[in-house]
Amino acid sequence: MSIVFERVEFIRSAVEPAGFLRDGLPQLAFAGRSNVGKSSVINRLVGRKNLARVGASPGKTNQVNYFCLDGAGYLVDLPGYGYAKVSKAERDRWGRLMEDYFASGLVTAGVMIVDARHKPTADDVTMRQWFRDHPLVVVANKLDKLKKSEIEPNLACIQETLDLSAPPLPFSAEKGTGLEELRRQLAALLEP
Ligand code: GDP
Repeated sequence: MSIVFERVEFIRSAVEPAGFLRDGLPQLAFAGRSNVGKSSVINRLVGRKNLARVGASPGKTNQVNYFCLDGAGYLVDLPGYGYAKVSKAERDRWGRLMEDYFASGLVTAGVMIVDARHKPTADDVTMRQWFRDHPLVVVANKLDKLKKSEIEPNLACIQETLDLSAPPLPFSAEKGTGLEELRRQLAALLEP
């Protein structure tokens, strides 16, 4: 069976554990720093312009959004992190929500979006730790903004900083670079 990523459906948003989906289908948890392009990567993945909201006001999205992928599992859009202007109360709420979500045992695998241009931030390293017990796909987005000569060293830097066993997946939500490879890797995680 192959998964048709365009067959995607919004299910619901959760703001606390009572709202988490617990129906046994696999869950792919998407995480990334605010503005890294997580919404754009999700929209590219499912071939929609505006499924996940691009440019949603950073830090104002402390909710977990569930989308069903072709009946095979869930794409779980976790709230972005690392936005400097967020209040301490908001940050604490984010931390509690993440603790609850990861403690729930509902995560099948992670998809972490990082910026291909930069060394991962301390927040990215912390996020990577949340996924330490799970299969993880790291997507290096905004590849189109790199010079050709920068690609290999930047991917190596991301791999080293996040302590990954393989380089991250080079990707451009804007151009569609890496789309087939991302779909292939995610389908493999969803298929029994
Ligand atoms: P989010 O906050 O992580 O959901 O990020 P968004 O998807 O809202 O994207 C943040 C900004 O980065 C927007 O202006 C996007 O158009 C831009 N962006 C996202 N992905 C890419 C990419 O692959 N290349 C380029 N050049 N810009 C991108």
